[in-house]
Amino acid sequence: MKNIAVIGAGTMGNGIAHTFAQSGFKVNLIDISETSLERGLTTISKNLDRMVAKEKITEADKTETLNNISTYTNISEGVKHADLVVEAATENLDLKLKIFKQLDEASPKDTILATNTSSISITQIGAATSRPEKVIGMHFMNPVPIMKLVEIIRGYNTSDDVTNTIMQLSKTLGKVPTEVNDYPGFVANRILMPMLNEAIETLYNGVAGVSEIDTVMKLGMAHPMGPLQLADFIGLDVCLSILNVMYDGFKNPKYAPCPLLVNMVMAGKLGVKSGEGFYDYSESRKAEKIASQFS
Ligand code: NAD
Repeated sequence: MKNIAVIGAGTMGNGIAHTFAQSGFKVNLIDISETSLERGLTTISKNLDRMVAKEKITEADKTETLNNISTYTNISEGVKHADLVVEAATENLDLKLKIFKQLDEASPKDTILATNTSSISITQIGAATSRPEKVIGMHFMNPVPIMKLVEIIRGYNTSDDVTNTIMQLSKTLGKVPTEVNDYPGFVANRILMPMLNEAIETLYNGVAGVSEIDTVMKLGMAHPMGPLQLADFIGLDVCLSILNVMYDGFKNPKYAPCPLLVNMVMAGKLGVKSGEGFYDYSESRKAEKIASQFS
């Protein structure tokens, strides 16, 4: 494998592109929004600068990594020579089904089509293509260049060959791949999201304030970040979508998103990426400070 296409240049897409490019792969980074592409490249460049400053990589490594990345706004153009596509567009079922139909038509017939979805069924996404055996979940964690885990999700029809190839490829990236089966939320979010939702419910019920809830979990449970800060960092819209997928998929009220989370998303308070969530990130580049905690 040499040519990788990454769909979506947002929080995850730019991190995935960065990680592949730093490991020597040629990456086509594709987004419908020019602004997202520009912002994505700026983020990659700043994250590489931080690595150079910490002497983890050299200035030449930075240049080579950036040279490995090309940007596209046209999906068909960007995937036509891809050996692997990793889709990291917005967490929305209809959008992903549409994108995978398009990928199936525009990419070579042997191309593996992976999705970074946090919760949507790999089996359902695979069924939108003519190659469900080549569709797999490759769930990177945020921030991608730093976090070791990749949750590898086998859809109902995903082949052994494709699973083994993606497990091996993840190791080449310096990651630790872990294989799981395809049920709503997989493993990571099935366990994480109810905790974040409960933290929001605790705030909603007036049991404690934002910083008190986060302090209890940071100092009491040795979590590196409090749950409300983590929700801001993931994106409140992403958290809401994942909870809704689990709520719909299991028909179990324990996954029902807290009304406060629903309201905040409707109000456009999405966390770090919108400048405000449970915390205010609008002044003095607080978002970057959070990101730097991981590097
Ligand atoms: P984001 O909102 O930061 O970025 C999404 C990007 O997709 C945007 O730049 C948008 O312009 C682009 N996009 C939308 N429609 C597109 C299309 N048709 N073609 C190409 N690009 C398109 O979202 P994100 O947080 O990066 O999440 C992306 C995926 O990764 C989601 O499936 C999410 O569930 C998953 N994920 C997110 C996290 C996290 O911590 N945020 C962690 C793991 C997995």
